[in-house]
Amino acid sequence: MDFKELGLDPQLIKAIEEMGYKEPTEIQKETIPLIKSGRDVFGQSCTGSGKTAAFGLPILEKISHQGKIQVLALVPTRELCEQVASEFIKFSKYKPVKVTTVYGGVAIGPQIRNLCDSDIVVGTPGRILDHLSRRTLDLRNVSFLVLDEADKMLEMGFIDDVEDILRHVPKQRQTLLFSATISSEIVHIAQKHMINPQKVETKIYFDKSKLKQIYYNVLGGDKFSLLVHLLKKENPKMAIIFCATRRRVDLVAGNLRKQGINVLPIHGGLTQARRTQIMESVKAHKVDGLVATDVAARGIDIKNVTHIFNYDLPKTSKEYLHRIGRTARADETGMAISLLSREDHENFRHVMMDRELEIEPNERPQFQKLQFEAIRTEQPRFGQRRFSSHGQNTEQRRGQRTRHWR
Ligand code: AMP
Repeated sequence: MDFKELGLDPQLIKAIEEMGYKEPTEIQKETIPLIKSGRDVFGQSCTGSGKTAAFGLPILEKISHQGKIQVLALVPTRELCEQVASEFIKFSKYKPVKVTTVYGGVAIGPQIRNLCDSDIVVGTPGRILDHLSRRTLDLRNVSFLVLDEADKMLEMGFIDDVEDILRHVPKQRQTLLFSATISSEIVHIAQKHMINPQKVETKIYFDKSKLKQIYYNVLGGDKFSLLVHLLKKENPKMAIIFCATRRRVDLVAGNLRKQGINVLPIHGGLTQARRTQIMESVKAHKVDGLVATDVAARGIDIKNVTHIFNYDLPKTSKEYLHRIGRTARADETGMAISLLSREDHENFRHVMMDRELEIEPNERPQFQKLQFEAIRTEQPRFGQRRFSSHGQNTEQRRGQRTRHWR
């Protein structure tokens, strides 16, 4: 099946052909006709499935530039906001519409000016509410509401904000909800705010023959040394190293850099400017890897990821799939390597409940034991020095050299 068979506007087809899209992905094949026919859609899918085009193309098919907001897409993170907006802009190259991003951490003035004649608004809930309370955002003409990565929005505590925003959107509209996981809360939102939604489900696609999944058993204190050994041995073109918390992301990234490994940390605690800078470095191939939390990595579209490292195991198989779904895309091959210490065993058991997953044990290689240093991860406040530590007592921490990098 090709995009013409989906009955899409030739202007949109021309744009996506230029983007290199040859045939629709599974979710696009299912969703595009449904949205075109006016149905609400409840999609279980994630980044990498092609969901942005799945809702973006049929929406663009049905709207035109009118200088009033016809589409509101709510997303959990600033990165996803930029990404979804930039896809809308690319898709509409030959059918121009005005797309505005609305998220916090940046000046509100330019957003207010842009909102005046926008057709599509992509935003994070907090800043959208901010505009609503300032009366700088008029949602009365919205005919498409997209809730993208709804599970993440709930996880990040945006549920009340989303409910508040929905009160400003007309009831007469099409609602498209996408979520990687389906919980009872998500179902509740769907029941409350959608009309007879059609469920579309796509599995996270990865080609088992192209993605090798292995794990190593290792002592918690040796994890970092093994990671360095493996990174040096594997020499990945692009790696993502997942950690459980922001603090661990900073610590692991800082220590890797000390070992001469060119990685950057990314998590929700960084300023918007810094996050944008990091993503630009990734796009320009200036770094060999990112150390990330799940939340920060969610929604970021990074091409050519060859290696996924689970420095900390995720809590569920869905999250695991989410992580590994970022590698072995298109014609590439990939590797997912999990480092298992005692603290990870329970999570690993949960991951392995998905019987389809084949994660093979690997014999631990000989590796050099390295020091894992405490690193200052925040600017000192009120003359206090703030350090992160890794299993060290205060005395040890005091004695250690600290380092701050940008
Ligand atoms: P998404 O799941 O929407 O974040 O899309 C993931 C990546 O796949 C993005 O870089 C898209 O531009 C790309 N993509 C989406 N649909 C297609 C398609 N039909 N053919 C090729 N690439 C696609």
